[in-house]
Amino acid sequence: MSFASLKLHHDITQQVTKLGYTNPTPIQLAAIPAVLAGKDLMAGAQTGTGKTAAFALPLLHHILQTQNSNNAQGIQVLVLTPTRELAQQVHASFVKYSANLSIQSVVAYGGASINVQLDALKQGCDVLVATPGRLLELIMKNLLDLSYLQTLVLDEADRMLDMGFIIDIQRILKKLPESRQTLFFSATFNDDIFALSKTLLKDPELIEVDSRNTTATKVEQTIYAVDQDRKSALLSFLIGSKNWQQVLIFTRTKQGADELAKEMQKDGITTQSIHGDKSQGARDRVLADFKNGKVRALVATDVAARGIDIEQLQYVINHELPYNAEDYIHRIGRTGRAGAAGLAVTLVSEKERYLLTDVEKLVDEQFIVQWVPGFEPDLNKAANSQKKREPSKKALRAKALGLSPSRDKKPKTRRRR
Ligand code: AMP
Repeated sequence: MSFASLKLHHDITQQVTKLGYTNPTPIQLAAIPAVLAGKDLMAGAQTGTGKTAAFALPLLHHILQTQNSNNAQGIQVLVLTPTRELAQQVHASFVKYSANLSIQSVVAYGGASINVQLDALKQGCDVLVATPGRLLELIMKNLLDLSYLQTLVLDEADRMLDMGFIIDIQRILKKLPESRQTLFFSATFNDDIFALSKTLLKDPELIEVDSRNTTATKVEQTIYAVDQDRKSALLSFLIGSKNWQQVLIFTRTKQGADELAKEMQKDGITTQSIHGDKSQGARDRVLADFKNGKVRALVATDVAARGIDIEQLQYVINHELPYNAEDYIHRIGRTGRAGAAGLAVTLVSEKERYLLTDVEKLVDEQFIVQWVPGFEPDLNKAANSQKKREPSKKALRAKALGLSPSRDKKPKTRRRR
């Protein structure tokens, strides 16, 4: 099916053709007609599937219609994103898709000058892309008029909940017109997501292009067992011997990201780290250097990596597995974007095996764990750590009785009864 058949405004179809998009992606095919029809949407789609255009294109179409009917007013579309990087990326997409239209998109996020953002807003704004904190700041200072809002988009809603934005979101919702269209995008679904969607959406259309909680289909996933203290050496070996360029690496902590980047530098691989402790300017510079090839490897935390969109990114490496299995899906979704092939390599120490099991359950797939010659895990070490992790008799007893060990640990409460 072609873009022309979606009945978007001619100028929009022309622009996507100019960008080289030949056919709509599955999420675009499903979402665009629903958004054009003014419906609320609950869409399961991860980054890399073309989901930004799935909402941006029909919303630009709506704005053009309003402009043509001479009702053009203030902010008509508000997109909320969990991170600055994603906000920048969504804004850049709106700019790209509306390059031949007189529609203004403005981006607002914390950690950057509010005055610059206010100046941009004063120039006129049809689409505002914002992170919750900065948006609330603007609202509370009475610097925004949201009374003309027609559509609210919650992008990567699962991540917003993970990052604790629920209170902010609820405060923002109170300031928005009740009669509006709401579009809800989430890479993963769980009970919290359904609970939030119920309070937000009216008779939504449910769209799931990927089956629920699955990983990107074109990403090859390889798992290597390795001792924790040999992970960095294995990482440098893989990147060097296979001549991988532009490799995105994940660690769990900011400190871990910095340390790993330093070690890899020492191994002769130009590496930088990106995380929340770095200034916005530093993050932007690092990302630009990574995109243009000046930096070969980028070590990122989960939050900072959200929104990184590099079309040809082929390699993602999990130096450590995330505690939250859903983050695995987000991580490897950085590669294999828009149908391109990608490789996700995960390094697993014996202590992390339970995290791998969590991932396997979530994606409903059993991975084959391999060894790299020369980096085989020390089986004695592995056996010892296995012994250490065997549950205590007390824990087993609690399990048999259906009690959680923590309840077991509260004798005082029992005595009072
Ligand atoms: P997203 O899932 O919105 O982050 O998009 C991932 C990438 O796919 C972006 O680089 C888009 O430019 C690209 N893209 C979006 N829609 C299409 C399409 N229909 N054909 C080809 N590329 C696309």
